[in-house]
Amino acid sequence: MTDAPDVGELSPPQRTLMGPGPSPVHPRVLKAMSTPLVGHLDPSFVDIMDETQELLRYAFRTDNEWTIPVSGTGSAAMEAAIGNLTEPGDTFLAPTNGYFGDRMAEMARRAGGEVVRVDAPWGEPLDPADVADAFAEHQPDVFGFVHAETSTGAKQTNVPELTDIAHEHDALVVADTVTSLGGVELRIDEWGIDAAYSGPQKCLSCPPGASPLTLNDDAMDKVLSREEDPRSWYLDLSLLEGYWGDERAYHHTAPVSNVYALREALRLVAEEGIEARWGRHERVAGALKAGVEAMGLGLNPEDDYWLPSLNAVRVPAGVEDGDVIDYVLDHYDLEIASGLGALEGDVFRIGCMGHGARPENVTLVVAALADAFDALGADVDAAAGLAATREALREQ
Ligand SMILES: *Cc1c(COP(=O)(O)O)cnc(C)c1O
Repeated sequence: MTDAPDVGELSPPQRTLMGPGPSPVHPRVLKAMSTPLVGHLDPSFVDIMDETQELLRYAFRTDNEWTIPVSGTGSAAMEAAIGNLTEPGDTFLAPTNGYFGDRMAEMARRAGGEVVRVDAPWGEPLDPADVADAFAEHQPDVFGFVHAETSTGAKQTNVPELTDIAHEHDALVVADTVTSLGGVELRIDEWGIDAAYSGPQKCLSCPPGASPLTLNDDAMDKVLSREEDPRSWYLDLSLLEGYWGDERAYHHTAPVSNVYALREALRLVAEEGIEARWGRHERVAGALKAGVEAMGLGLNPEDDYWLPSLNAVRVPAGVEDGDVIDYVLDHYDLEIASGLGALEGDVFRIGCMGHGARPENVTLVVAALADAFDALGADVDAAAGLAATREALREQ
């Protein structure tokens, strides 16, 4: 046997997290996580569960009773939504316009679904006409789309049109709202979304671990009337109902500290006001956008689909994306990310999420990029970028 490992005290660097997530965590949320635990069936925890659900409904803009945090990261809530709504033999329509649409398709396939696709290029939203064509051709049972594609920085517009098409064909709609909940306008009930999942570590600025999920009655009816059990026991919503519903029976141990954290993060959303929060993301990310555009760098998606919470900024000529990312990490303790999939090497992905969507953060990003571009010899007007960001922030 080996000796006891001599491992030092935990002391990770203090980074400013401006990538695709996790985002910077609000100090109040960190504090909530260090609150002593109660049992997950303790009467006091039942109240905490109720409050967390109430706060989640507010953030999602929904009255759905079935609104819960799923134990695990955003992908767990994603698999809960897709795995419970897709029965073997169901046809599942998934988009091709980004990395997370592919993940939806893969999860639907593993759930036994027949996956069909509706195409849009990376960086563009789905066109309702194409969705209508796909419905006419395939008659899918479930339609999934990504509201905020973190891989491309594009926002799905025309959501009510998409859900209308699906409902005309008696299909259910599941939305990936991981990078929009709490950062970008999202209205579950008004837009006719049947099920939506999200993550805590993007625009809610909470550590990963307990992930929002909401289903309306139509979606829950389908889940509860399945002929075959879902393939995952852990994420079976009909079993989880025993814990989150009236019964409060043990299914698995709730991640108590993560629920504390999510509750506090959602309290911050309620205090700010959800619409004010959407407005803040747009203004602060707008100052970042103004800065990189003044440097001569475009954003990947067109302005109509721009996603304030995730800015896909074109890599300028004369530098490698990886060198810039390393430079800002080394010199500024600043995390930004490279492109994913089809956009690898072409864009930087710069998050502007939750507690990260503040003037000091975007000022740091633009200043650090300007320095990196100067030092590494990129062909940009770095000074113009700084001036534009400053001016945009001063106007706010
Ligand atoms: C981050 C993300 C996910 C997955 O969430 P994890 O917490 O990494 O499991 C899913 N969809 C989108 C759009 C995301 O940005």
